[in-house]
Amino acid sequence: MDVIDLRSDTVTQPTPEMRKAMANAVVGDDVYGEDPTVNRLEAEAAEMFGMEAGILVTSGTQGNLIALLTHAPRGSEVIVGDKAHIVLYEQAGMSALGGIMPHPLPVQEDGTLLLDDIKHAIRDDNDHFPRTKLVSIENTQGTVGAVPLSPEYTSQVAELAHRHNLKLHIDGARIFNAATAYNVSPAEIIAGADSMTFCLSKGLGAPAGSLLIGTKDFIKEARRVRKVLGGGMRQAGILAAAGLIAIHKMSQRLHEDHTNAAYLAKKLGDVPGIRVMSQNTNFVFFWLEETVKLSPLEFTNRMSENNILLSPYPGYERKFRAVLHYWITRKRVDEVVIAMRRVLG
Ligand SMILES: *Cc1c(COP(=O)(O)O)cnc(C)c1O
Repeated sequence: MDVIDLRSDTVTQPTPEMRKAMANAVVGDDVYGEDPTVNRLEAEAAEMFGMEAGILVTSGTQGNLIALLTHAPRGSEVIVGDKAHIVLYEQAGMSALGGIMPHPLPVQEDGTLLLDDIKHAIRDDNDHFPRTKLVSIENTQGTVGAVPLSPEYTSQVAELAHRHNLKLHIDGARIFNAATAYNVSPAEIIAGADSMTFCLSKGLGAPAGSLLIGTKDFIKEARRVRKVLGGGMRQAGILAAAGLIAIHKMSQRLHEDHTNAAYLAKKLGDVPGIRVMSQNTNFVFFWLEETVKLSPLEFTNRMSENNILLSPYPGYERKFRAVLHYWITRKRVDEVVIAMRRVLG
């Protein structure tokens, strides 16, 4: 790819190895449960995380929605971060389609919800109240800067939830980045959670799809919910073939993206007009200083003339997010910094 696309890790295209595996995939009708490649992906993904079962879904949004609808009946309540993807970027799907009320708690700078906040948000048994059914956390927490949550924190939340007969769901769109950051196994990073969604199509490079994992009974119910949402796919083994490479192979190289992100943050720190705000896992957040003569729009236009794609962060004119991924090597990071100096100079 000629263009250096820093807008997201969703822009990653399938690798040559994935395309070959997709072309050769053995497939069947997955709604009948007869696609061997899908069955293999679901089983192997679940096993990696120490869970009983998994289900291939069309997207991370669908995976989260299925999890919420499966855990929480109409009129119940879900404790979730106010800056969670589920709250900000999923069209209030839990309310619109599930009749579930979100109970948002402030997401801290370190990506966590305070245990005390969670404790106080859990409802007593009282006819006035909705019933709290679920706690949902996000790892890595995207909007505060792709911050990874530790296994210790996650198991504390799980313990608290379970003590009150609640379940814990993790929106783990980038869970492998979190496991990489803490240098622990996938099973360790989701410590104690009852369900988890992760994306095959972000840093893992597959063309589409996410997985939702949990207990056998939970996944059986999730399969019904997926069907009513229109997510039953037929010869989806074509996608699962890429997914297998994503979980087994691409998950092993994410440390390169983290190293490149740290390298980019360090280099941007020396570029006049740029203030680096944070770097965690594969994200760099930076601010375009008010002293810069170009408007933020002119800045992105000039960068795109240099074949570098960046977009301002939703809600902020001068805040930018640069996301590192498979297609952006160290050499390309150097090109970004050179172009940025030229554009801002
Ligand atoms: C991308 C993302 C999702 C949703 O995934 P889609 O496949 O785009 O629907 C959910 N949660 C988080 C934290 C994400 O980053």
